[in-house]
Amino acid sequence: MSDMLKFVDVGREMPEKRAADERRADFGEIYGEYAREKAAEQSARCSQCGVPYCQSHCPLHNNIPDWLRLTAEGRLREAYEISQATNTFPEICGRICPQDRLCEGNCVIEQSGHGTVTIGSVEKYITDTAWDEGWVQPIKPYAERRESVGIIGAGPGGLAAADHLRREGIQVTVYDRYDRAGGLMTYGIPGFKLEKDVVMKRIDQLEQGGVTMQLNCEVGRDISFNEIREAHDAVIVATGVYKSRDLTLHGSGSDGVVKALDYLTASNKTGFGDVIPEFESGALNAEGRRVVVIGGGDTAMDCVRTAIRQGATSVKCLYRRDRANMPGSQREVQNAEEEGVQFEWLTAPKAFASDLRVTDAGDTGAVAGPVRGVVVERMRLGAPDASGRQMPELIEGSDYMEEADLVVKALGFEPEDLPTLWDQPELEVTRWGTVKADFRTHATAMDAVYAVGDIVRGASLVVWAIRDGREAAEAILAKLSSQATIAAE
Ligand SMILES: Cc1cc2nc3c(=O)[nH]c(=O)nc-3n(C[C@H](O)[C@H](O)[C@H](O)COP(=O)(O)OP(=O)(O)OC[C@H]3O[C@@H](n4cnc5c(N)ncnc54)[C@H](O)[C@@H]3O)c2cc1C
Ligand code: SF4
Repeated sequence: MSDMLKFVDVGREMPEKRAADERRADFGEIYGEYAREKAAEQSARCSQCGVPYCQSHCPLHNNIPDWLRLTAEGRLREAYEISQATNTFPEICGRICPQDRLCEGNCVIEQSGHGTVTIGSVEKYITDTAWDEGWVQPIKPYAERRESVGIIGAGPGGLAAADHLRREGIQVTVYDRYDRAGGLMTYGIPGFKLEKDVVMKRIDQLEQGGVTMQLNCEVGRDISFNEIREAHDAVIVATGVYKSRDLTLHGSGSDGVVKALDYLTASNKTGFGDVIPEFESGALNAEGRRVVVIGGGDTAMDCVRTAIRQGATSVKCLYRRDRANMPGSQREVQNAEEEGVQFEWLTAPKAFASDLRVTDAGDTGAVAGPVRGVVVERMRLGAPDASGRQMPELIEGSDYMEEADLVVKALGFEPEDLPTLWDQPELEVTRWGTVKADFRTHATAMDAVYAVGDIVRGASLVVWAIRDGREAAEAILAKLSSQATIAAE
């Protein structure tokens, strides 16, 4: 303990951040890694609180003070063992958790004005070191079990459950409609926040540990939900939320008005070396274009920063509230501004302006052609709504034209209608379309069917999906064990 409590003498220091000009030119992560001494020094700033608020505000209740102390003492292998005991992918959470809203936002020394302990960066450092040292090994269950679990969706929720179940010797098959596993960690989140080899390394290890990945396999199209249910003792639904919220404004159908996830997926696939026709044709590529992104969440931040890296001539972000009231992380806004993104606060799109294209049917068949810009209305913040948030109000007559050749709509996501898509009316959903599941066990209304992650919570975070996946796996293990006991009696 004597090595700790250094926060009065030692200031908060993040790992080195690459200069904006340099990082604009590639999709590499923007933060470097601590040197060993720096990680120890920063960890030693922890005050080792008796009641650690960082831990209670981490969705995984990571034992943060203990692994900080061990890192400060140079006992990295033990730090890694403790960190990985509660988190399936600590190096991923260390990179992309919004720490300012979770662990670090509740650090006591932050609240005393000394600057939070850099918990996320230390967590990343510990696990990156563990990979380099060969401490992260494929799963080797003590004994194989005959029971099997089918998991639909290879995002963090599904993969965390797969890892947990496989450790107990359960036979696990993960089905995913994409050609690579990882869900939004692979095809949503850009490489400058989470480099793809970090995710792929985990997936390789899960496969080496005996998890079967059935990729390019869409449930409801390539295989039915009932077939999966019949093939396994339990099923976990971990399909995420993919239906984009849309804008139905005049000119919405113009060429060059695209959905955020289509745009980000094309960029991420291109990063893997895939040839994507829509990227090659320019339909989903910002190079040489004036780009306008609509939205103020983290997806919008990822889009604007992707457009900068693709070589857009200008990138503007329209958001209907102000900076203080945007849902996206302030850290990401700052990164975006440093990289050259312009924010147009208190603005909303009214229509998309485009050239008309005449179809074969002549004048009567004229449809919207390439987009030329967004007609924008200015807003002001009015009275608070029921949640206490100030409502944006239109300023009449304030319209202006924001010129653009590519407009990206980043307005959030909703669940697909699984009961209809899978012909499973008994799969109960909420009025928002998310799957209804028990808060602790994640059991749905259907026997032996569980649901985790965004499909239950709505668009959320990787760390919550990991927690759900681990908890559902625990509940399934308990149920399978009790069934085995009853059968043996
Ligand atoms: C652009 C973007 C940036 C984000 N940035 C962050 C961030 O910085 N930090 C953070 O914590 N969170 C971030 N998030 C949120 C985070 O990615 C999600 O909360 C998390 O991935 C949810 O995990 P999941 O396992 O529930 O679903 P997903 O990751 O969405 O995975 C679901 C998987 O199910 C598959 N699937 C869906 N339907 C079927 C079907 N019928 N058959 C077979 N497979 C199917 C999909 O192909 C997908 O692979 C971001 C999200 C987006 C969109
Ligand atoms: S998992 Fe996320 S919230 Fe928990 S300690 Fe790590 S960075 Fe913080």
